[in-house]
Amino acid sequence: NSNSLKMVFRNRPENEKIVRTTAAVFASVLDPTLEEISDFKTAVSEAVTNAIIHAYPKTGGDIEAYFKREDKKITVLITDYGIGIKDVGKSMQPLYSTLHTQERSGMGFTFMEAFADEVKVKSVPGKGTIVKLIK
Ligand code: ATP
Ligand code: MG
Repeated sequence: NSNSLKMVFRNRPENEKIVRTTAAVFASVLDPTLEEISDFKTAVSEAVTNAIIHAYPKTGGDIEAYFKREDKKITVLITDYGIGIKDVGKSMQPLYSTLHTQERSGMGFTFMEAFADEVKVKSVPGKGTIVKLIK
């Protein structure tokens, strides 16, 4: 029993909600609790928001969300072709952020790690970033 779904979307803020909601519907066949669904949406939302906000600081760009389910295991890949992350280890530390605005607290990766079972980041500066979430 398996399923998969791929979305390609522009780096616009309104697309975060579309992908977050899609994530919930994709996972709903597993009859998750409200807490489980909320955790999953939060993790996906943080990864998508990062790609929207950080990947293409000066231009528009496309982002891909790929959802895959094998029995009860869900894998999500959020891929962008943007600026990439110089130091992934540093960027995943709590409170680390390169954007010093009020909205950013540098907690995105920390939430992903708290709310997903596994978080893996592959990033090449100038090429892009892939965030893999397993739940
Ligand atoms: P918050 O998520 O709390 O609003 P934040 O996005 O800055 O703040 P994190 O989500 O933890 O914090 O990300 C840490 C840093 O990693 C970001 O400030 C940014 O520099 C970098 N980063 C994360 N995702 C990407 C991405 N897709 N492309 C380029 N840089 C990224
Ligand atoms: Mg973030």
